[in-house]
Amino acid sequence: MKKVVMKFGGTSVASGENIRHVANLIANYVGQGYCVVVVVSALEGVTDKLIEAAEQVKKGNRDYIPEFKQIILKEHLAVARKATENKGIREEVEQILKTTIDELEKVLTGIIYVGELTPKSRDYVLSFGERLSTSIVGGALRDLELKAQHYTGKEIGIVTDSNFGEASPLMNVTKHQVKERVEPLLERGIVPVVTGYIAATQDGVTTTLGRGGSDYTATVIGAALAVDEVWIWTDVDGIMTSDPKIVPSAKMMPKLSFQEATEMTIFGAKAMHPRALEPAIEEKIPVRIRNVFNPENPGTLIVKEQKIKLGDAVKAITLVKDVALVNVSGAGMVGTPGTAAKVFEVLGKDNINVLMISQSVSEANISFVIQRSLLERAVSTLEIALLGRGLIREVTAEDDVCVVAVVGAGMKGTPGVASKIFTAVARKGINVRMIAQGSSELNISFVVKETDGEGAVRAIHEGFQLNKS
Ligand code: ADP
Ligand code: ASP
Ligand code: MG
Repeated sequence: MKKVVMKFGGTSVASGENIRHVANLIANYVGQGYCVVVVVSALEGVTDKLIEAAEQVKKGNRDYIPEFKQIILKEHLAVARKATENKGIREEVEQILKTTIDELEKVLTGIIYVGELTPKSRDYVLSFGERLSTSIVGGALRDLELKAQHYTGKEIGIVTDSNFGEASPLMNVTKHQVKERVEPLLERGIVPVVTGYIAATQDGVTTTLGRGGSDYTATVIGAALAVDEVWIWTDVDGIMTSDPKIVPSAKMMPKLSFQEATEMTIFGAKAMHPRALEPAIEEKIPVRIRNVFNPENPGTLIVKEQKIKLGDAVKAITLVKDVALVNVSGAGMVGTPGTAAKVFEVLGKDNINVLMISQSVSEANISFVIQRSLLERAVSTLEIALLGRGLIREVTAEDDVCVVAVVGAGMKGTPGVASKIFTAVARKGINVRMIAQGSSELNISFVVKETDGEGAVRAIHEGFQLNKS
């Protein structure tokens, strides 16, 4: 019997019809003898709405709460009504939705009273999206006469550190607990429907795994249960040579190595959470990206090893948006050992993740790329820690940039790839602000103005004729 974790993203569960479709898909596999653990994201757009609500209450906007409560309740009730047919099941789901949304209202009101939104309370607010969606999916499965039950990540034993907003699962204890709690359910023929994205610290405080984190939940559970495969169901056929929304002629890749897929996800292929492959790599569990609206297609299979075909120098191009470029400069940096270490130590201590780094040979400046939402914090942290000590004269930033990443295992040791990339970009008159090549030679990334990003991606896709590969 094949054991599979199936994760369904926001678009897969965007409406009652979609949820019924997903439930039928799951029932079909269960009918074929598959043993399935389901992981579900919030309904499409709900996490964004919760972020907005958290921001509004942070500003003390009390009037926002009743309005927001009505919107969220109405949306979920409408979806639940379409997702379930059996009256009893529907009423049960409606009751859970109402109770959960009452709790959300209390949390938001509490934030108004306290007058501050901490990363901890923000995660608590964000956890409601998945708590609501799983109850509907659970209901839709019971409607099809499956023994389904919904659980939070915390309830099935996923434990993380307390880095709220971007928490990391503590794999040893998680693996042990998930196995202990989920296996008996599977043995009883229950289909567990687990909230993606959310978990808890060892003390039971709710955490989130970072945006798009349901993918990560799926592989964490997959690793704990040593499943045969993890299936990430989404709205495209698999991982493509580029985002089909940018390059409509992008091609689906039937097979990728863990390493290539990791480079792609780290460098922005939104198709998967950047850390989702870690548990799968660790336990050597194949991951498959599949289209929920085209289940006949086997999708992209990500596996441990893959022979590189000659001529496959460049496999894919991704665009990373919402980033910012920071420049640290000063004559005092030249020939002074430890400057770079100091800069990155300061950032690291403040939990600011650096996506890309470059330093010119003159050593007079270091440039790096970070998430745009962290820009203000990064600049002020650096200024407080480093300015006025003679080493660094200036910290400047640009926030209207994006990163283009060109990925492919065959790029290693293939001369001329960089020249071909930059010729294609230059032909479109696009200016390149910063370049970095990882020493793995699996990717070349560069920074351009945000308005040039999609043009650069299309130019390279065309230059390497990836639509024909
Ligand atoms: P889900 O809601 O299922 O998690 P996401 O929106 O997070 O879905 O991710 C799927 C989307 O990722 C696709 O609709 C596609 O537009 C985008 N995407 C970006 N880069 C790629 C790529 N290289 N291959 C496939 N999809 C990509
Ligand atoms: N709902 C969360 C988000 O929108 C997690 C996910 O969709 O994977 O980021
Ligand atoms: Mg996603």
